[in-house]
Amino acid sequence: MADNTFMLEIVTPEEILYKEEVQFMVAPAVEGELGILKNHAPLVAALKIGVLRYQDPAGNEFRIAISGGFMEVVDNVARVLAETAEHGLDIDILRAKAARERAEKRLSQRDENINYSRAKLALQRSIARLKAAGEKVD
Ligand code: ATP
Repeated sequence: MADNTFMLEIVTPEEILYKEEVQFMVAPAVEGELGILKNHAPLVAALKIGVLRYQDPAGNEFRIAISGGFMEVVDNVARVLAETAEHGLDIDILRAKAARERAEKRLSQRDENINYSRAKLALQRSIARLKAAGEKVD
């Protein structure tokens, strides 16, 4: 294996979604996109809802939808603790589209029973899932 790789672990309360060597990753940190290569300095960062990208040792790029969490990098291990995470290839696109429509509808209504911040987060999660699945999102 090429020696320019480091370990990426993605863990949710439900499962270890991913634990493999990667060449490169970009995480959706609250402060902006965070790119990591081998021998990165130790760090801890908060993650927002978004898409994490990584390149496997063969140079293939993949996307994972993340709905917020934390990440730490220590000794060539990048550990992501996320509330939810789905590999782009496993995302149910119809479900994400339905979630997006539901959230958009809620946000377009004026109704004191609607929790707008919850709908905004649901919208962000659905958009992240669609992007991770390779859908064009406008
Ligand atoms: P929905 O309204 O469709 O349930 P949501 O944003 O409320 O979407 P979450 O509460 O974030 O869903 O996730 C619940 C579980 O379902 C998690 O395990 C998450 O990984 C999974 N999940 C949510 N949406 C999808 C999807 N489109 N494809 C695959 N798994 C999904």
